[in-house]
Amino acid sequence: MGKQKIIPKNCEAESCADCRLRCDKRETTRAVFTKEMKATHTILMPNMLPIHLELACRVLRIYGYNAVLMEYGLHGDSRKVIDAGLLNVHNDICYPAQLIIGQMLEALQSGDYDPHKIAFLYPQTGGGCRASNYIHLARKALKKAGYDYVPVISVNFAGLEKNPGFTVSARELRDIMYVLYYGDLLMCLVNQSKPYEIEKGSADALASRWVDTIIDDISHLRMSKRHIRQNYIQIIKDFEALPKTNEKKVRVGIVGEIFVKFSPLGNNELEKYLIAEGAEPVLAGLMDFIMYCVANMKYDYAYYGIKRGTALIGSMIYPYLTKKQKEISELITQYSSFRPMPLFPHTEQLVDGVISHAVKMGEGWLLTAEMLELADMGIENIVVTQPFGCLPNHIVGKGMMKPVKERCPDVNLVAIDYDAGATRINQENRLKLMLANARQLMAKHNGVE
Ligand code: SF4
Repeated sequence: MGKQKIIPKNCEAESCADCRLRCDKRETTRAVFTKEMKATHTILMPNMLPIHLELACRVLRIYGYNAVLMEYGLHGDSRKVIDAGLLNVHNDICYPAQLIIGQMLEALQSGDYDPHKIAFLYPQTGGGCRASNYIHLARKALKKAGYDYVPVISVNFAGLEKNPGFTVSARELRDIMYVLYYGDLLMCLVNQSKPYEIEKGSADALASRWVDTIIDDISHLRMSKRHIRQNYIQIIKDFEALPKTNEKKVRVGIVGEIFVKFSPLGNNELEKYLIAEGAEPVLAGLMDFIMYCVANMKYDYAYYGIKRGTALIGSMIYPYLTKKQKEISELITQYSSFRPMPLFPHTEQLVDGVISHAVKMGEGWLLTAEMLELADMGIENIVVTQPFGCLPNHIVGKGMMKPVKERCPDVNLVAIDYDAGATRINQENRLKLMLANARQLMAKHNGVE
């Protein structure tokens, strides 16, 4: 006998997004991405990390999905996306959700696609944070705007939802994992080259050439460990060889909620702004967030006594992920003068005595750990990006600034709020002030008055 569907009797909810129950009605009312749609539909993805997601998107295309990154709002026209989000989502919902849903509606109304031939990809963490529930709000917003037939595909590791037309095999998962490591390496080297490049655009152009090479390798099955290691070395050597100035610039660390930390749409092109102002942005890679999620499997069991099986799986994956990161970091040190990536197990330990590993809503202890890691690396100017509506990250970000300052008194922490009503000019004025102070301090350290 098949599994019986659980739907409360006399359910009168207008939308599943309004309901707190996780009944099977959600499964029966949502538009599912079917096997046939794989051949007919374009899958649109929010562009949170330009290099990583460009790679991931192109890997999906190798496997037969017509995946495209959404660029709406990224070229100075973010107001339209913000307004579309505000119009269709409750205005106390956190800013990243407003932006992603705004981008979806912009795509549907732009005329660029046939609304009957598109689907959206929506990443879900599966944790306790509101991010796990936004997919229902996205569907509600689409329904309100008359697009309830458009499938929204959940990408999650928690088995939250299934779509028969979107399945990822072990090989595809391995390729995506590798491109995320490549993405971290490229992002790390681009950020250390771009502020010093002699020929404008040379770092981005080199990264783009490597994106093409990596995709060519994957499509021709050149994925042996030896080949990937050779690629890592060549990427590092190529960036080392880029002509650069010898200037000394202020380095500014960026931490915060994952979407506003990385997404140029979410943070009003923060990295670009810092580089234009003569600073060097420093960010941890995306794999740190993935390792944080894996590390939390053991903390869930240790602190809350839940999911023993998941904790065991996590303890098997964790050493593999950290080993890969260590390999890249050691190659950077061996073949270049670039600053290597910090190693996650070290970052994880830094919070001991400052915040508990049991704090894991949103970016949880990782956000505090990243501030401490940057201070440990000698990066004394740190921007803490905070989206509107994000309670968990206000606690572990702004709320932890005092204990971080107590441990690292020289650090200069600036919290910047990102929301639909915040003006770019206000954000940039605060950054300008921080940079002015940082430059004065740097001049003092160098003995220049
Ligand atoms: S981390 Fe914050 S901004 Fe992101 S979904 Fe959760 S509550 Fe919202």
